[in-house]
Amino acid sequence: MKTPVTVLGLGAMGAALARAFAAAGHPTTVWNRTPGRAPDLTDVTRAKSIGDAIAASPLVVVCLLTNDTVHDTLEPIAPELAGRSVVNLTNGTPEQARRMADWAAQQGVDYLDGGIMAVPDMIGGPAAFILYSGSPVAFEKYQPALAVLARPLFVGSDAGLAALQDLSLLTGMYGMFAGVTHALALVSSEKVSPTAFTQDLLVPWLTAMLGTVQQIAKDLEYGAEPGAAGSNLAMQAAAFGNLIDASRGQGVDPGLLTPMGDLLKRAVEQGHGDEDLAALVRLLSER
Ligand code: NDP
Repeated sequence: MKTPVTVLGLGAMGAALARAFAAAGHPTTVWNRTPGRAPDLTDVTRAKSIGDAIAASPLVVVCLLTNDTVHDTLEPIAPELAGRSVVNLTNGTPEQARRMADWAAQQGVDYLDGGIMAVPDMIGGPAAFILYSGSPVAFEKYQPALAVLARPLFVGSDAGLAALQDLSLLTGMYGMFAGVTHALALVSSEKVSPTAFTQDLLVPWLTAMLGTVQQIAKDLEYGAEPGAAGSNLAMQAAAFGNLIDASRGQGVDPGLLTPMGDLLKRAVEQGHGDEDLAALVRLLSER
């Protein structure tokens, strides 16, 4: 028989996780604070209480809104959790993950923290992956079950490392969304078709720029060749002023852009004008 799994939380994501476990043949027990959530979910056992839900499986997957709600939900039933493995896929910070891991250790619970890099529709599909950190024993034991959700990637026994990398990926995504939001506001200030601009220009441009990202990481890790910067920061700082001025001129709030302009200016003032973007990473970390 496949590993029985309990899923706590039947929001959009929890329901998708439960659906994937059930579809893969895992006996799946579910519990949600508000009864009746995810009415379309079939082939699962709906537990009458959270205690019944936990008693049903050695593997308990938690997906609630915040880690505060996870702690408040699990604390009263800690004795029932002892000896089981808890995989917490709720979004949170590295510090929260480490606190949860310490709490779990005190209760005799094997703890894995996870960061889901997918939206609910992607769960069980090829593009989804989930970062895990915490107990290597729990990961080793339950990797085959967790693999039905998404490609499982163990990133270390420090429970905070999955959240750290999850949030870092999200900052990359939001940085891109911020740029896209601003770009569309700028072209929309004139009679430029947003869809044509996006299809013909923005997406190809961003795709080409993605190719430069790994070089920034390499420069950061191994050091850049002196004078190798093809687009040095002094040039970028000078041109960046045009983005701000053009936005104001077109009646578009430059607020999403100004912090990047300020960072470029600071880099030049501190003598990094002939370097490339890796210098900005160091500058951010020094503050
Ligand atoms: P939803 O808002 O759809 O569901 C929230 C869930 O949390 C519900 O089960 C809700 O129960 C429960 N909950 C909220 N407050 C409490 C509480 N005080 N006590 C007990 N249960 C509570 O969110 P999602 O399912 O979309 O997200 C769940 C987690 O997954 C979040 O941490 C989110 O960041 C993460 N995630 C979500 C993604 C997405 O695209 N949806 C992508 C990647 C990660 P109730 O029904 O009783 O309100």
